[in-house]
Amino acid sequence: MTTKLSPQTTLIHTDYTPPAGFGAFPPAIHHASTVFFENVAALRSGDWKNKTAYTYGLHGTPTTFTLEARLAEIEGGRFCLLAPSGLAAITMVDFALLKTGDDILLPDNIYHPNRVLGNWLQEAFGITARYYDPLVGAGIAALIQPNTKLVWTESPGSVSMEVPDLPAICAAAKAEGVVVALDNTWSAGIALRAFDLGVDIVVQALTKYQSGGADVLMGAVITRDEALHEKLSNSHMRLGYGVGADDAYLVMRGLPTLKLRFEAHDAAARKVAAWLKARPEIAKVLHPAFEDCPGHAHWQRDFTGAGGLFSVLFDARYTEEQTDRFVDALQLFQIGYSWGGPNSLCVPYRIGAIRQGWGDAGILVRFNIGLEEPADLIADIEQALGQLAAA
Ligand SMILES: *Cc1c(COP(=O)(O)O)cnc(C)c1O
Repeated sequence: MTTKLSPQTTLIHTDYTPPAGFGAFPPAIHHASTVFFENVAALRSGDWKNKTAYTYGLHGTPTTFTLEARLAEIEGGRFCLLAPSGLAAITMVDFALLKTGDDILLPDNIYHPNRVLGNWLQEAFGITARYYDPLVGAGIAALIQPNTKLVWTESPGSVSMEVPDLPAICAAAKAEGVVVALDNTWSAGIALRAFDLGVDIVVQALTKYQSGGADVLMGAVITRDEALHEKLSNSHMRLGYGVGADDAYLVMRGLPTLKLRFEAHDAAARKVAAWLKARPEIAKVLHPAFEDCPGHAHWQRDFTGAGGLFSVLFDARYTEEQTDRFVDALQLFQIGYSWGGPNSLCVPYRIGAIRQGWGDAGILVRFNIGLEEPADLIADIEQALGQLAAA
């Protein structure tokens, strides 16, 4: 076929070649630590970074290479490295690019463990970690110093959901030769073409939508640039990152339905968010597809969808005790971290305590809308809102 296939079709029609005479869709699961070499010359010529050769289970198997190729394709990148978690993928990037004396910039709404990592790099390794307003846009140029080596971005940012002006940040960083990494987990690589906007490195927590089953932890780092990929490969090797073959298979099993699930989460989340927006108990719905979400215009320009994650800010008249009662009263929403699995989830946050500029904004609840019927979820929220006023 000469026509370009649509993204949904490419999730199913991959270039995987099954063993001769065994034409089946699922890729093989290969388990191995030791990989045998044919002779000493083959052992000596083995380069663990060369994806065409296998040298040791830790450095890749046909199963992990197949998953890496599929993830690179989905994201529009060329190279991919797997990590044992999304957070491990983030760590791989920092350790690939930074040394003592360097400086990194992170948005104030970065995924919290990434902030903890930045602070640790500062305290233990003599790297400075500075935090910027996620809506800084081209203003990032004024923050870049001669020793700035990396700008982290996340779109939208965690919990408070501001959508940054990625092309403006990337252009300013590029002008100074600074690498931009994006935590693209929220869009699953489905709803944002990060590399086309100028991003150099994409991180995915495959734990979320790619797995889709809430049953596996994994991360990926994806690039287009070969020199950057080589630095990341060194970091991957030195940190000793490997992923289990069965886990890699679990993530692969989720990929054919990734886009359909993402779209189902998206449609349901917009229904629930719109219902919440009309409620008097809710001061603000922070959903990137809604006009009053900070950075909404960037979402509208850069994204093609939204997934299942958004937050709401309760009216300031409610105490934390009341909003905790609301969360505890929910029956279809589990209380728990992560997202992208079948279950709806929620987590309450004292947003003023974790974000600059939010003062005493009150209690924010982050919702992950799962794959349940949205009408059932709305009915559940309605009964739980009734608990807000209870004595
Ligand atoms: C969950 C998440 C991660 C980390 O993934 P783990 O596999 O849980 O370590 C990183 N970034 C974002 C935005 C996430 O939501």
